[in-house]
Amino acid sequence: KVRTRFAPSPTGGLHLGGVRTVLFNYLFTKQNNGEFVLRIEDTDQTRFVEGAEAYINETLAWCGLEPDESVEKGGAYGPYRQSERKAQGIYSQYAEQLIQKGFAYYAFDTPEELEKMRTEFKTESNPSPRYDAALRHKMRNSLSLSADETDSLRKAGTPYVIRIKMPENETVSFTDMVRGEVTFNTSEVDDKVLLKADGMPTYHLAVVVDDYLMKISHAFRGEEWLPSAPVHVKLWEYLFGLEHMPRWAHLPLIMKPDGKGKLSKRDGDRLGFPVFAMNWTDPRTKEFTNGFRERGFLPEAFVNMLALLGWNDGTEQELFSLEELVQKFSTDRIHKGGAKFSYEKALWFNQEWIKHSSADKLLPYVKNIISENDIAVNDDDKLLRVIELVKERCTLLTDFMVQAGFFFKTPENVDMSAVQPKWDADKDAFFKALATTYQQKASEDFTNEKLEHHFKELASAKGIKAGELMLPLRIMLVGGKFGPHVFEIAEAIGAEETIKRINNGLQ
Ligand code: GLU
Repeated sequence: KVRTRFAPSPTGGLHLGGVRTVLFNYLFTKQNNGEFVLRIEDTDQTRFVEGAEAYINETLAWCGLEPDESVEKGGAYGPYRQSERKAQGIYSQYAEQLIQKGFAYYAFDTPEELEKMRTEFKTESNPSPRYDAALRHKMRNSLSLSADETDSLRKAGTPYVIRIKMPENETVSFTDMVRGEVTFNTSEVDDKVLLKADGMPTYHLAVVVDDYLMKISHAFRGEEWLPSAPVHVKLWEYLFGLEHMPRWAHLPLIMKPDGKGKLSKRDGDRLGFPVFAMNWTDPRTKEFTNGFRERGFLPEAFVNMLALLGWNDGTEQELFSLEELVQKFSTDRIHKGGAKFSYEKALWFNQEWIKHSSADKLLPYVKNIISENDIAVNDDDKLLRVIELVKERCTLLTDFMVQAGFFFKTPENVDMSAVQPKWDADKDAFFKALATTYQQKASEDFTNEKLEHHFKELASAKGIKAGELMLPLRIMLVGGKFGPHVFEIAEAIGAEETIKRINNGLQ
């Protein structure tokens, strides 16, 4: 059975790379009729941030990438929060098991001693000393001390951590779904802490234990975790046997638009685009970060854009629905190299998705945006028609405010000085007559064809080129020089409002 997991640490808003990790896990799971687990890795209390877990849940719901098992949904493998699993004593028992088997040891070193190690053991050949096979015998731990010394330190309540005893100069390899055979030398890694002095497991121990207990079969995660893989492989071997280890897929990094380095939220702040899924305010620093949702992205477009950051289906196709992605996703088409993020491309996806979405689908979003701006919309049928009229002009959902707002709100301070050629008495007379004509015809069908017909008839009767009168009419109705066909606008706002706006323009 395919079982995957997304295992975020609730440390803040979710970077788009995190959502892409969710997506790839999700696509693979659904394609294989598996189960997708959301596990909250909150064992690092110093990095825990209030609200971050709720943010993760909301992001997954917004994207339509809901887990099958989670804190909220429950499931047979809970609890799904590592802090609660720790409270059940799950992790320490495995750490003790490792000690008994000789694969881990107690280390009593104080922070000062560790600091001293970094300075005193510095040599030309070892410029940044780490806790590893070369140095561990010089430190204070159950490998360097006698059994009696160790026992008495423990009995005296001396704080200790449990470290993995990484073998020296051993080759570790596994087959990554993206990278194929990946090989490490164990000497590249130090003796990572597995259990901290407060009894909390570190990420390395908790991730392995939980992937085992939750029967995870495949794990997609960011490439930044690749250097930790040898530690995880060794833990799998020591604790559960390598045959149970999930198959890994390390996803390519998402790079800055210029390709120089990993995309960070700072890049978004600097270049003016969102990097997080949704708006986020850090409760400690009050620092605010923009999100794709509030910027006006459709979740479908956001998800579609993410799918193509490091994957394609081998054709030129770029627009995919989630269902289609589930069908077409394949791990051998995930790229190894970094995927360059482009905000222009993200906008293009959104524009295409808005264009191809039905007015019905867009309705709730647009309604929200318009009413957030204090415009009362109580006629859904009218709004549906307006959406149909203007959706091709919107790149972001927020553009509907400008493009659709004037259908519901009479423009203020209409400025006829923008009219070219200049406003004059003839134009004034024409529009007065137009208002009267429309008044007379208001009881007829107020269709755009008829409105245009009356308009043109009147223009030729007055000997003015209709083309010169279109822009003034537009400015009167819209309050600006944009929008769809001007008579479509008049039809949509109706006779009374059209006449009112013409009269406003004349004053
Ligand atoms: N808790 C890790 C994170 O915050 C999970 C990494 C993994 O998937 O193994 O990303």
